[in-house]
Amino acid sequence: MKPGVPRRARPAFEALVLGVITVAVVGLEPRALIAGALVAAAFFAIRLRRMRELDRVRDGVATAASGTRPEEWPGLSPETEAVFHALHRFADLVSREREGSEKARVLARTVFEKVPVGLVVVDRSLAVLDVNPAARLLFGVPPDAACPALHDVVRDPQVLGLFRSLIGKDGVSDEAPPPVVVRREGREGGERLLEVTARAVPGRPVEGEPAAIGVTRDVTERERTEKMRRQFVADVSHELRTPIATIRAAAETLAGEESLDEGAGRLVGILERQAAQMQDLVSDLTDLSQIESGAVSLQLEEIPLDGILAGVVKDLEGVARAKQVEVALDVRPGLAVTGDRRRLAQVFRNLVDNAVKFSPVGARVDVVAEAGRGSSSGAVLVHVVDRGIGIPAGEQAKVFQRFYRVDPSRSKSTPGTGLGLAIVKHLLILHGGSIRVESEPLCGSRFTVSLPGSAAAAPALKEAS
Ligand code: ADP
Repeated sequence: MKPGVPRRARPAFEALVLGVITVAVVGLEPRALIAGALVAAAFFAIRLRRMRELDRVRDGVATAASGTRPEEWPGLSPETEAVFHALHRFADLVSREREGSEKARVLARTVFEKVPVGLVVVDRSLAVLDVNPAARLLFGVPPDAACPALHDVVRDPQVLGLFRSLIGKDGVSDEAPPPVVVRREGREGGERLLEVTARAVPGRPVEGEPAAIGVTRDVTERERTEKMRRQFVADVSHELRTPIATIRAAAETLAGEESLDEGAGRLVGILERQAAQMQDLVSDLTDLSQIESGAVSLQLEEIPLDGILAGVVKDLEGVARAKQVEVALDVRPGLAVTGDRRRLAQVFRNLVDNAVKFSPVGARVDVVAEAGRGSSSGAVLVHVVDRGIGIPAGEQAKVFQRFYRVDPSRSKSTPGTGLGLAIVKHLLILHGGSIRVESEPLCGSRFTVSLPGSAAAAPALKEAS
């Protein structure tokens, strides 16, 4: 097609060219001239009709893309009619999609506005993109106050630090930092405790796009109830200590009496065992409530792991021998952690004791200490591995809860309070560490403790590697 000819004049121009060609081929006779004129006229009519239909299809596509069915015209060719039918289906689809996304948008907006949890959306420069009424209420920001930046909503350095830890130079972090709890003056006086959690929006958002979302809950009531529960447990266990110790002492004295007949001796034995178990329970309860309430202060020092772990294995020599279990120790030289010696020994003793307790006779338990992989801060890992009864997958996270014992019927035959792992978990949190378990029923369990390594030990570690 000649680019110089305007679009509207093209059919006439092409018909003229066709007429001239016909005349040139047939000759300059009158019949040839009539034939040329007829060919040109027919071509012109067909071309014009096609062009008009194409224009309508083009307009129809634009109308359908906006979700409206394009109007059909009488006398359309069957092909164009088929195109229009397809455009109607397309328009219906677009309209349904629009309706759906509009509904989703209204729903998301309603949830955002009405949910009784504070929500703040920020971009990578911590500019506020959206803040819901609950967040304004919790942080005491008036409903109509402009808050362009995060620090206009919340000034607490801990919360600002939480968001900053999520958003780095190379995009947002995938890690979920632990929530922070901040104190605020309540509207009706009194202090409120707010728990703020921040989560990153995946990807590499640019400025002006959502990079992180902050979720704030008022946890004042939860903390108050938790405090009351701890206080109750601490009071009850304190009050029970003396009478139980007295019963146990009395039972022990009675057990030494030679005049006891067989039946009475058996009863005194039960009394002795049950009193001892109650004493363990009360002692664990007191310990746990003190650790949870923060009443325990750690005596921090640098502790070489080989010494402390060897001590624990030695302490449990008798228990292991009774079950013919071999406890093998493998500690990488130079490994050390910063912690409270007595408390860390308590952690490892509990884990090794459990490993022996839940192992079959004659099995082997491994205690392995190594430097955490890829950890520049020198995190240290201690694994306690047994080949015992194992823990089903669904129960593995629960064993760190208070009083949780997998299958109480099997636990009946093994002494314990169900508090040991809860104490271990909280002691490790106090040390800035953590614990996890991998296990398979009837194959065994691996408890892995992670602790921040001692900075003083770092050079020694480097030499050893
Ligand atoms: P306790 O040993 O006094 O019952 P713990 O808190 O130490 O309490 O452990 C909780 C429960 O977790 C145990 O009762 C047991 O069911 C399970 N458990 C702990 N360690 C092991 C282990 N090494 N192998 C199998 N089960 C275990």
